[in-house]
Amino acid sequence: MEEGPVVAEVRYFAFYDELGFRVGQATRFRDLECRRSPDKESVVAYLRAGAPLVVVPGDLRDPAQGCASGVWGGGSILTDGGWAWPRIAAELVDRHDLAVPAAFLARMRGSFHASPALPR
Ligand SMILES: [Zn+2]
Repeated sequence: MEEGPVVAEVRYFAFYDELGFRVGQATRFRDLECRRSPDKESVVAYLRAGAPLVVVPGDLRDPAQGCASGVWGGGSILTDGGWAWPRIAAELVDRHDLAVPAAFLARMRGSFHASPALPR
């Protein structure tokens, strides 16, 4: 019997309830941790550079308390193949230091180091 393709398990980051997506148990934005990452600039750039998985046009309200600004296409879903996150996650890290899971940071740093070998 032929085996089917192995589908990697995708992990999810920043899917809080207000987005309208529900992944696993309920997560309210205000319950997410905010902690500045030492390599915040790289994290924001990496999050912005994800490949689009689902494109959702329209302005998404920034869920942070007292914040009136929106993010165009914020509800779109991006991926790096191992993780998936809403487009607004980059702005939430940038604006509010939304904390990124350690496993996500490890993958991100690994991918930077895994650049193709140059010929000698
Ligand atoms: Zn905000």
